[in-house]
Amino acid sequence: MSYRIAVFDAKPYDRDNFTEVNKDFGFDLRFHKEHLDINNVVLAHDCDAVCIFVNAVVDAAVINKLVSYGVKIIALRSAGFNNVDIAAAAGKIKVVRVPEYSPHAIAEHTLALMLCLNRKIHRAFWRTRDNNFSLLGFQGFDMIGKTAGVVGTGKIGRTVVQVLKGLGMNVIMYDLYPNEEFAKQTGCEYVPLNDLYKKSDIITLHCPLTKETEYMINENSISMMKKGVMIINTGRGKLINTKHLIEGLLSGQVGYAGLDVYEEEGAYFYEDYSNSILTDDVLARLLSFNNVILTSHQAFFTREAMSNIATTTLQNIKDFTDNKELVNEVVYKP
Ligand code: NAD
Repeated sequence: MSYRIAVFDAKPYDRDNFTEVNKDFGFDLRFHKEHLDINNVVLAHDCDAVCIFVNAVVDAAVINKLVSYGVKIIALRSAGFNNVDIAAAAGKIKVVRVPEYSPHAIAEHTLALMLCLNRKIHRAFWRTRDNNFSLLGFQGFDMIGKTAGVVGTGKIGRTVVQVLKGLGMNVIMYDLYPNEEFAKQTGCEYVPLNDLYKKSDIITLHCPLTKETEYMINENSISMMKKGVMIINTGRGKLINTKHLIEGLLSGQVGYAGLDVYEEEGAYFYEDYSNSILTDDVLARLLSFNNVILTSHQAFFTREAMSNIATTTLQNIKDFTDNKELVNEVVYKP
């Protein structure tokens, strides 16, 4: 009998990509629309593996249920794994992820948010459709020569640095583990985090969500920034304290925010609520600013990335069934 995989949070594009790539693997894929949590974990009761995405809630209770059903492996089809309790999984169930599928996809979306906010493309789109050809309020700034602060210089952050260097920006970087070789190659320097906050015209976040990075953008860090700073977050929502960001936007301290992620996104992102009332007041306030662009966690969403995600996810599971080394295992580090 072929290996049974419950694929949660499966949208039509996930089904298409996984079904196509699975022709080479032959797994028994069972697609479910919902993202995995304690209320629907039972859908995995007769499966060997679960495949999940960024908004799954895999806490100790869900893990214990999965283990009791005989599920042996949790395959994340994302790079980030902050939504899985790795400590609770340790020794009970394997966890694998897709550490890299296209850093370019996220870096290019990051640039799209910057350019769109700076040159007000989102507003111009609507204005010209209403036969309004005025430029009032649309003045932007040359990005060449301005300072961009990149927080986190892993695969995505480094790609962003190169993209911004291509625009002639002065790029400064912060990482818990600086990559001096990369700094030498690009001529960009690592600076202390507070210096990055103080000197940057644009700050873009590419570090993982951890205990240390949670709410790193808060009233204190925002107060250090240049007035009118642009903040871009394609990392994880909880890197930013949204209420403090809103206060910064109201005071003008923050001039622009480009957000692909939101701290409470699990309740809304990837679903169509256009026939409902928005009950999240913080999200509603955020969406009311004309200098905020919010996209619903779509930075990864390119043809190439989707195909790579499906291939690596199914290969991770195949390696497990073949008793091979799990190169993409998420290992618990106490
Ligand atoms: P990566 O592991 O290659 O790089 C992460 C970098 O962050 C590393 O260099 C690490 O040293 C650094 N880091 C860790 N803790 C830090 C801290 N406290 N302060 C500063 N830097 C710190 O990961 P990546 O592939 O570049 O992805 C980065 C993040 O982007 C992921 O963790 C994920 O949350 C997010 N992401 C978002 C999307 C999207 O669609 N919006 C897609 C993929 C990844």
